[in-house]
Parts: sequence; structure tokens; C-alpha cells
Amino acid sequence: MKDCDCNDFVSRLFALFDAELEAGEEATLRAHVAGCPDCTRHAEAEEHIRAILRRSCVENAPETLRMRVHAQLTVLRLGGGMPAFSPRTTP
Ligand SMILES: [Zn+2]
Repeated sequence: MKDCDCNDFVSRLFALFDAELEAGEEATLRAHVAGCPDCTRHAEAEEHIRAILRRSCVENAPETLRMRVHAQLTVLRLGGGMPAFSPRTTP
């Protein structure tokens, strides 16, 4: 097993979906994603985000929107609550 620098791959997933990578680099990235469950989840999340944005008829979504959706998906996948929107329990 070679080292898995997943953070680096995840950061390049955005470039992959934006078709900004060269063919050789894209093949390397796809090969890693195919064999790495962690990166597969990230890739699926990114695909999900893009599907949502397409449905919203947003051609060039603001980076802030994309990051917000991505953050929400990450929270959902982690199975945790949403701290920013957690209901107050104080009387
Ligand atoms: Zn990985």
C-alpha cells in the first residue's frame, strides 16, 4: 500500500470536476478515488453538490454557496447535529 495523502486528493477533486487537470493527473486521481472509500465519499459529495447547483439553475455558483453546501453535507455524513442551527434548550 502506498501512502494515501487524502487531503491533497480531496483538494484536487474540485479541479477534477472542473476538468482543470491534465489527463495523466486525472487518471491518477480517479485511480486513487476508486480504491479509497474516504475519497470516494468526498467525490460523491462533490457530485451531489454539483447536481444541486445544476437543479438550481446556477451556472456559476458563488464559492461561498458551494462551501456552505459542502459543509452541510459533511455534517450530515458525519451524522452529527448542526451546531450553527442547534435549537436553544434554555428556557
Ligand atoms: Zn484517499
